[in-house]
Amino acid sequence: MPSFETIIIGAGPNGLAAAHRLASKGASVLVLEAAASAGGGAGLAHLSYNLDPRVENAMGLAAHGLEWAEPNLATTALSPDGNHLRLEGPVGERLFGDISDADRAAWATLRARLLRFAAVLAPLNQMTPPRIAKGVGNPMLKLAMIGIKARMMGAKDFRELGRILLTNAHDLLDDELADPRLKGALAFDATLGGWLGPRSPNSVLPWLVRLSGQTAGKPGALGLPKGGMAALGAAMARAVVAKGVTIRCNARVARVLINGERVVGVALEGGEELSAARVVASVAPKTTLLSLVGARHLDAGLVTRARHQKTRGGAAKLHLTLRGLPDFKGADPKDRLIIAGSEHDVERAFNPVKYGRVPERPGLEIMISTAHEPRTDGKHHLSAIAQFAPHAPSDRDAARAEMLAACLAQLEAHAPGIGGLVEGAEILMPYDIEDRYGLPGGQWHAGELSVEQMLFLRPLPGIAQYQGPVPGLWLASAGCHPGGGVSGSAGWNAALAMEAAG
Ligand SMILES: Cc1cc2nc3c(=O)[nH]c(=O)nc-3n(C[C@H](O)[C@H](O)[C@H](O)COP(=O)(O)OP(=O)(O)OC[C@H]3O[C@@H](n4cnc5c(N)ncnc54)[C@H](O)[C@@H]3O)c2cc1C
Repeated sequence: MPSFETIIIGAGPNGLAAAHRLASKGASVLVLEAAASAGGGAGLAHLSYNLDPRVENAMGLAAHGLEWAEPNLATTALSPDGNHLRLEGPVGERLFGDISDADRAAWATLRARLLRFAAVLAPLNQMTPPRIAKGVGNPMLKLAMIGIKARMMGAKDFRELGRILLTNAHDLLDDELADPRLKGALAFDATLGGWLGPRSPNSVLPWLVRLSGQTAGKPGALGLPKGGMAALGAAMARAVVAKGVTIRCNARVARVLINGERVVGVALEGGEELSAARVVASVAPKTTLLSLVGARHLDAGLVTRARHQKTRGGAAKLHLTLRGLPDFKGADPKDRLIIAGSEHDVERAFNPVKYGRVPERPGLEIMISTAHEPRTDGKHHLSAIAQFAPHAPSDRDAARAEMLAACLAQLEAHAPGIGGLVEGAEILMPYDIEDRYGLPGGQWHAGELSVEQMLFLRPLPGIAQYQGPVPGLWLASAGCHPGGGVSGSAGWNAALAMEAAG
């Protein structure tokens, strides 16, 4: 085995993005991946909302096979009586359905405001968080520029941004809108991937972060790649290999090797040791610090902070194989279909999860990929993100069975007869996701994206600039700023930080 300057742990979107950037600057890079194939959580995902344009363009993903089956999915907020609401264009630019003129006008105003605010925050995704303790330097200046940009929106918008950042999604929606279907779908979006309900404090900021993403150059748009999100992961892997990077799968790192207080390489499960001057951990920071590095190499304060980092996942993933195409009471099966009920139902689905229990009526984000790309055998594949699901129930098997039954009941209420079409069903609970993908708690962002764990507090105060606590160790996963999604942003930012450090 040749020796490499840099070893990257984890071939998820961030590990691959970092590998590409480092290799294109001349580094020799080995990526070690525990699973049998590269792509990580891209295989868990079912649509794209924040693929970083720097990553997409510099990696030449189109040349490596990325094609969009649909770059701008419409959303249908399903109603059990068939009185659906359809949102077309990015973030529901156009509303179709039986809804009052007052709500149409209020949504147009609110949408425009949210997108303006998201655009102000978007540059944050592409920067290293400032080191507050030092308080100087380029990142601090960039942060100041964003503050100035926010102020330039005018006094009214600036005040409003401050107000909504401190409020919760429920109150914001309730202030502006009346239609429960619209408020339900938006409350579902605002809390997707989080461990918070719409009434939880500060639930607007993570929503704005989500809205700051883009697909195919359209802010807020949602895209479905041809072949699904796994195909996007595969395109990233091909781009990386084309840059001369070696990806070794079925290679689980057991330990980061440290000698004389410096990282010197890694040890794989099975005992093989590989040396490198730089190790980039693109797996969750909590796992990196507490398992791969180990408490004895860290100061006690950092160990305590790492143990306290919040990594509760609240999303389950459902996969159904169906004999035929289900009928969601006339909804277009190519749409992203949302079962959320009202904003109150979204909160009700979160409540039991706080106590480790399964909600009676989970919300669902449904994609039927085979409506876009039919299978030759006429069967269909339905995937759904189900919220909320407990990450630590007292009985895992019972909770999994209960969650599957609750999801199927929700589907049946909106697409009568779907139960009779089911040939195969699998649900991954947050703890299954942790076991399969290594995301602690099954957490979407490898660490909750809550206000107290964002920007210079992410993943933890003191190590928010991608540089790990031991010389030679770097952090690059979604657990770092700016968080998760199949974006590659954290990995790209980390590689830029490594370049800046020389
Ligand atoms: C239920 C659910 C649904 C989601 N749906 C979407 C979606 O539709 N769209 C979207 O954009 N995002 C979605 N996400 C979020 C997205 O999957 C993650 O945020 C993203 O994958 C994080 O990328 P990453 O590269 O940081 O980490 P990961 O993708 O988790 O990659 C880390 C890699 O490291 C490997 N690994 C772990 N430990 C080791 C080790 N010790 N040695 C070697 N390798 C190791 C893992 O196998 C994995 O391949 C979803 C998340 C969840 C939980």
